[in-house]
Amino acid sequence: MNPLPHSLDLAAEPAIAISGLVKLFGDHRALGGVDLTVRRGEKVVICGPSGSGKSTLIRCINALERLDGGRIVVNGIELTADEGTVQDIRQEVGMVFQHFNLFPHLTALENCMLAPQLNRGLSRAQAAKLAMAHLERVHLADQAHKYPSRLSGGQQQRVAIARALCMEPRILLFDEPTSALDPEMVNEVLGVMEDLATGGVTMLCVTHEMGFARRVADRCVFMDRGAIVEEGGSREFFDAPASERLRGFLAQIL
Ligand code: ADP
Ligand code: MG
Repeated sequence: MNPLPHSLDLAAEPAIAISGLVKLFGDHRALGGVDLTVRRGEKVVICGPSGSGKSTLIRCINALERLDGGRIVVNGIELTADEGTVQDIRQEVGMVFQHFNLFPHLTALENCMLAPQLNRGLSRAQAAKLAMAHLERVHLADQAHKYPSRLSGGQQQRVAIARALCMEPRILLFDEPTSALDPEMVNEVLGVMEDLATGGVTMLCVTHEMGFARRVADRCVFMDRGAIVEEGGSREFFDAPASERLRGFLAQIL
């Protein structure tokens, strides 16, 4: 077993506590009773075949889906349909999607300035300062005044990461952030994510980038057919998978 990183506080309340989570789409059970606890500061990678429920799980944590059963508690806040609770949870959680979803009519800087002004009450000048600091963090200060269409896919995704950081979330959720990118751009995005991982932020990341998972993840989780089939430290997960299904999955992607 690897020793726990200093940033993990075992005594504290978990960052994310999910129990018995059920999500239905019509009569299809996308999530069939998922239990997952993520400690504060922990970095967790989720992998699994297409359609296994990874995105649905991530979306539920950020209150983008209505739950059909079970509980989600984020930094001590229980997710309910109450609009105030949803807003409270979104203050804690930043999300980065596969498709960057930047506003095309706003520059990189303006994309990053929007949420702090709308949701955190920052002035335009304060938001601009904060946005520039986070664009610097993803090495894009020199591209701040460009529109998304003038940026590469890797740059757009780094803007999306900076935009999430501008809410100063304590939890970052990533849903396949590199899978829509041309191969030569994958590493610049993974590099930024690795830098972020050295801080105290809690990270839950859906990715099939196994090099990243080995370097960064405290724990890897394998999902199949709406359930967590196996989880473990990245070394035993990749080198000694217990279940036939994880062995089969790894054989396909490695
Ligand atoms: P993954 O991210 O692991 O590929 P998803 O969470 O996107 O899987 O999807 C899990 C299952 O739920 C799939 O069978 C998918 O078709 C279904 N699903 C996801 N979102 C919707 C939706 N909005 N409406 C209907 N079915 C959905
Ligand atoms: Mg998905």
